[in-house]
Amino acid sequence: MSGSTPVYEWDSSMYRLALAQLDAAALRMGLDENVWERLRHPQRAQIVSFPFRRDDYKTVDTLVGYRVQHLLTMGPTKGGIRYALDVNLGEVTALAMWMTWKCALMNLPFGGAKGGVCIDPGTLSKSELQRITRRFTSEIIEVIGPDRDIPAPDLGTDEQVMSWIMDTYSQQKGHTVPGVVTGKPIELGGSLGRLEATGRGVLACVVEACRHLSLPLEGARVVVQGYGNVGAAAARIAKSLGARVVAVSDAKGGIVDTNGLDLAKVDAWVREHRFLTGFPGVDEVTNAEILELPCEVLIPAAVQNQITERNAGRLACRVLAEGANGPTSLEADAILDERGIFVVPDILANAGGVTVSYFEWVQGLQQFFWTEEEVNSRLINLMQRAFRDVLAFATNQKSNLRTAALIRGIDRVKEAKRRRGVFP
Ligand code: NAD
Repeated sequence: MSGSTPVYEWDSSMYRLALAQLDAAALRMGLDENVWERLRHPQRAQIVSFPFRRDDYKTVDTLVGYRVQHLLTMGPTKGGIRYALDVNLGEVTALAMWMTWKCALMNLPFGGAKGGVCIDPGTLSKSELQRITRRFTSEIIEVIGPDRDIPAPDLGTDEQVMSWIMDTYSQQKGHTVPGVVTGKPIELGGSLGRLEATGRGVLACVVEACRHLSLPLEGARVVVQGYGNVGAAAARIAKSLGARVVAVSDAKGGIVDTNGLDLAKVDAWVREHRFLTGFPGVDEVTNAEILELPCEVLIPAAVQNQITERNAGRLACRVLAEGANGPTSLEADAILDERGIFVVPDILANAGGVTVSYFEWVQGLQQFFWTEEEVNSRLINLMQRAFRDVLAFATNQKSNLRTAALIRGIDRVKEAKRRRGVFP
């Protein structure tokens, strides 16, 4: 590849990380240069700004939101919507690209997308959250839809936010359109098992990794950074499989109990106090310290860029299973490889969410709903199949799992692009 690519509006440190990963995989697999260049760009990127009236009725802020569709070749696009202060075009573009590889790796008929609004959801009342969601949905209504682009929950959004998106879309179309989002509540056509799906998928990978490394999960110490949708489910499922969850954290910091945390009590505390801070009878740690605690399994399940060249040398885990998207920098990857830490990359480890989102979309289209056991066992099957495929490929190619997962995903996209050809 020539190094003369211009700097685009979506340039950012995260986009550069996504590009560097793509470039490394493309180089290694000998990817056709025309396809390679095409995949380095998002196919569509929409930026919107809109007014947002605070509850006090006097203040009207202007908010900025984004929806990026990386690749329209595979079918509709699919990806979460996040509400966070650092949301920007560059971050959303990188996340959309990772969604493409993730869907392709899992053999799902979607391209990647991502969206978000630059706002701290922690500062919002429920009615403010609702107004932002409805107006943002109206602003992006022309680019989303069950056959076009299907949002889902991500950082700072949940099934209630998905309900408001679905309702706003349906109101404007004049009929109920449940398929416009996934991650909906059950009453609106959501899928059983969707809420815990990402955490369940992470644990399916951890189980496979432990089996591969002959590391017993029974009694293993598990540390989770980010006790939200993904992290809390991963912690709960790890515990149900016999592991000892010794530390968890949220945006304000973490708690540690080397004997294993009582997660039912932690959940009750969070329901009452919102954050973990102040939970009795435990030690407190920062979000930087939690990553360096000695453990068998470390699950970053919060935000990107947590494991870098600064701390990779101090991680004290055997398995790193990436629940979050983009938690590990390229430089850190090299250090972890050298130290023999077994990394299950984000596009594989957290693919359970989009997989059950796919199940939800399929169930909705057919109006035929599966039992929770069916959902979970199909999920575990697909996760195991993907993990074993990536591990076999990595072993064969003498690469790490990230490169192997990227190559498997990119290769499927390349074949689809080759079959469709170039228009006109
Ligand atoms: P969430 O909002 O439900 O939970 C996030 C958790 O991380 C919260 O506990 C929050 O307090 C904490 N947090 C926020 N900022 C932090 C920081 N700077 N340091 C430490 N902790 C922080 O979000 P989620 O849906 O669980 O998503 C978490 C990660 O998983 C994101 O990277 C997301 O892209 C990824 N992911 C989510 C899904 C899904 O289905 N929800 C699927 C795949 C990947």
